[in-house]
Amino acid sequence: MKRHDLLQELIEGLITDAQAEDISDEVLADMDRTIPVHDALGMSRSEWTAYAHGVEFQEIAKWRAHGWPNRCFVCGQLINVENFGWLAREHDGRMQLKHVVCPKKN
Ligand SMILES: [Zn+2]
Repeated sequence: MKRHDLLQELIEGLITDAQAEDISDEVLADMDRTIPVHDALGMSRSEWTAYAHGVEFQEIAKWRAHGWPNRCFVCGQLINVENFGWLAREHDGRMQLKHVVCPKKN
């Protein structure tokens, strides 16, 4: 099967967000897929997790290009994205990260 580098293609403007959705739908529907979906799309586990939390491909592509919003919007502490333990949620009109277990109670 064809391997994609979905976010890179978005960064370079080769595909639109709608096309990215179509490609991921195709990969998800592929019954012969032998590798994880995020690998087939050329995405890291963190990037795929953010997508599962409702962040659009276009926005995750921006994070890859310009850096993640890696401060918890509740307590303000840095989040190590690779270690998980975070949720992507809308805050102040954009998607940001917060700790699953935040030292500062909401
Ligand atoms: Zn926090």
